[in-house]
Amino acid sequence: MRIKALVLTMFIALAAIGYAGVSYAQQRVTLIIDAEVSDYLNNLAAPLLRAAELNPENVNVHLIQDNTINAFVNSQQDIYVNTGLILKAETENEVVGVLAHEIGHMKGHHILRIMNASDQVALPTILAGLAGIGVAAAGAPDAGVAVMAGSQAAGIAHLLKFSRSQEQQADQIGVNLLDATDTSSQGLKDFFSRLRTNELMYYKTPPAYLMTHPRSSDRESFLDRAQTKPHTVTKEEAARFARIQAKVAALTASTGQVRRLYMEEDSGPADYVRSIAFAMQGKYSEALQFLDKAEDKLSDDAKPYVEELRGQIALDMGKVSDARDYFEKALDMKPSSMLLRFHYARALTHTGEYDKSITQFNRVIRQRPTWWLPHYNQGLAYGKAGKKGLSHLAFAESNLYRNNAKDGLFHISIAQKYLNEDTKENGTDNTLSLQKAAQVQLELEKLNN
Ligand SMILES: [Zn+2]
Repeated sequence: MRIKALVLTMFIALAAIGYAGVSYAQQRVTLIIDAEVSDYLNNLAAPLLRAAELNPENVNVHLIQDNTINAFVNSQQDIYVNTGLILKAETENEVVGVLAHEIGHMKGHHILRIMNASDQVALPTILAGLAGIGVAAAGAPDAGVAVMAGSQAAGIAHLLKFSRSQEQQADQIGVNLLDATDTSSQGLKDFFSRLRTNELMYYKTPPAYLMTHPRSSDRESFLDRAQTKPHTVTKEEAARFARIQAKVAALTASTGQVRRLYMEEDSGPADYVRSIAFAMQGKYSEALQFLDKAEDKLSDDAKPYVEELRGQIALDMGKVSDARDYFEKALDMKPSSMLLRFHYARALTHTGEYDKSITQFNRVIRQRPTWWLPHYNQGLAYGKAGKKGLSHLAFAESNLYRNNAKDGLFHISIAQKYLNEDTKENGTDNTLSLQKAAQVQLELEKLNN
């Protein structure tokens, strides 16, 4: 038995310019929904986004469960970072450097291109294959639960890339953003040069990041010329990064691998890893023992996430009110964390406190209006509370933000039917909800065309 609510399989749309104009590819990826890692990545990105005059509230950094080294952007709202990148980075500053480069693509409004001529031929075949998987996954919408991770998750992202001049521009903007936030660009430089060295020495095929970011003497000399102060790793930074790497390892590696990696170590992160590994095997009492040990050694900024893990474990054991209390405690310690609030809201649905749950989902939605998942879960809460019209309205919105116009319009028509019935039969004033439904309908129709 695995910890539920940690991973989520979904499709992300990648727009690519091909020989037949713009085409949309869907790549299936498994996202890890983890408040700690997500808060961490979003915190790293926030100052860079502000320097790029992008609002951090409108951008999400997502963690993809994939141990190859890669990171990419596919829209103005989403940055994707592979677990492999975090595991292979040597310092936090390297992760920051890669984020700065990716935000450079966002600021430059770059559009992905198909990598080479032979791939252009292959693309329609790949798209056809992926469409089939899309149908299968649509029948398994229990958001927040691991659906499956399979070999078909073959990365079409590997076939798409930005142009050489856009890569250079992203480096330039990235370095500017690092300068503007008084951050060393040493990490960006180190990361690239280590990948290149490793490629020559160890890899049969280069890591995904190098395939989409091929070596070019222009880029190398640009990064070499970029004046930067050396990066000094503080004790806090090192501890924080060790903890995040440990967590990512625990969430992605096999239990055996995790045990080997941290076998000798007597540290907070090592106990944290053991705890997560046991929890993922369903060995909850061992998990909780190691979590107690870890908590004594970890720094204070880890405390909310220790409670988060307790909440996850309680949820898996079916102790829903305990889970709710742990998530509430975690959120009290870190009220700005959108994902902790999301977990809390879901737990409130489990305990049957629907009004509270709906209120909390509203707050999550205010933080990230265009993220589909809270809309979907709010729809479930409305449904359980017997509010059918609002439930379908929330499902319609979740489909809007998943770019699924057809299902969205289906839910909108049901929402309008129930809202009108409710007004007629119970005299409820649904004016505002109907206005919102009309607005969502308009946007879905726009998407449909
Ligand atoms: Zn790039």
